[in-house]
Amino acid sequence: MEIYRAYKFRLYPNEEQKILIHKTFGCARFVYNYYLNYQKEKGVQKTFDLCKDLKELENQYEYLKEVDSCALRSSIFDLEDGFNNFFAKRSGYPRFKSKFNRQSYRTSCVRGTYKEKEYSNIEVDLLTRNIKLPKIGNVKIKGFRDKDKIEGKIVNATISRESTNKYYVSVLVEEDILIEKIIPTTIVGIDLGIKDLVVTSDGIKYGNLKVLMKFEKRLKRLQRKLSRQEKESKNYLKTKEQIARIYTKIRNYRKHYLNYIANEIVDDHDIIVTESLLVKDMFKDKKKAFNKSLSDACVSTLRSLIEWKCKIKGKYYYKINTYYPSSQICSHCGYKNSKLKDLSIREYDCPKCGSHNDRDINASLNILLEGLKLHYNLASVV
Ligand SMILES: [Zn+2]
Repeated sequence: MEIYRAYKFRLYPNEEQKILIHKTFGCARFVYNYYLNYQKEKGVQKTFDLCKDLKELENQYEYLKEVDSCALRSSIFDLEDGFNNFFAKRSGYPRFKSKFNRQSYRTSCVRGTYKEKEYSNIEVDLLTRNIKLPKIGNVKIKGFRDKDKIEGKIVNATISRESTNKYYVSVLVEEDILIEKIIPTTIVGIDLGIKDLVVTSDGIKYGNLKVLMKFEKRLKRLQRKLSRQEKESKNYLKTKEQIARIYTKIRNYRKHYLNYIANEIVDDHDIIVTESLLVKDMFKDKKKAFNKSLSDACVSTLRSLIEWKCKIKGKYYYKINTYYPSSQICSHCGYKNSKLKDLSIREYDCPKCGSHNDRDINASLNILLEGLKLHYNLASVV
């Protein structure tokens, strides 16, 4: 099976390379905006024709020749994606890019042979911690300390500068891996939710990251401060950078925590079942709006992490019906207790069989049972 994996490294360009990277950001943006405008006036064109036209544009604006030409072509492909998404009603009409947005460009990997020697315009050397990028040359990188080689074929590289003034490169790699589906011996149901982020049918609970609340408070304070400061003043920019730093910290904490949870769950079980529920419905309470913003992102990321890890480890992942009332049904006797719509009831005794149920563990047990049905029905059909 072919899978794609992205490796993101911190990038340490020297001053000269920084200048060229910034030029490339600018040129890629220019090409994007130029052809967006072009198509606004003349109607949507074929990407092939735009790429041909790009050659002429390069003759017209000589400075475009200074930068990586793959990056310019990528801009046209991005624009094509933008229009495709628009026509498929997945997003709005493509908008012009501003230099105040996140700065990035993508370049694609080109391979060939020259005098019987194979070469490629993008190469990652993890022994010397260097990446070779078209036009830019060798740049120092940091990250993936435990690896000394990247398996697979490089597809492209995206170079970006975050508002924290740090540079990154994300390298997309195509890997051909052999995956054998394992014979499952364990199953777990997972309730993703409000009070705890994850409750498993084994009775394990993973709470929401408390540290994120602390960051959120600091963030709110800084945003208030920013709104009082004079735009584009020295202090304004300083506050803006502080805010960007906190956002990065939140992202990193969240990423590590979710990966840790997903790894533990997927390593310990062969069949994993979650609900596919719309998190939106779970947070009707406005007081919980804060939790919502955290959980929304966490829940969907966690689900895709689990799905992905199951896939590459040959394990099984199922999502069960959104409207299945997993928390209202007693996992011991099947009695449906509609009083439990009230989310504040955390523990209760089943009126029919008398068993004492923890709301979330009970829900995850029901999710497990639904997944079990799904797994063996599917298996019998195949
Ligand atoms: Zn019961």
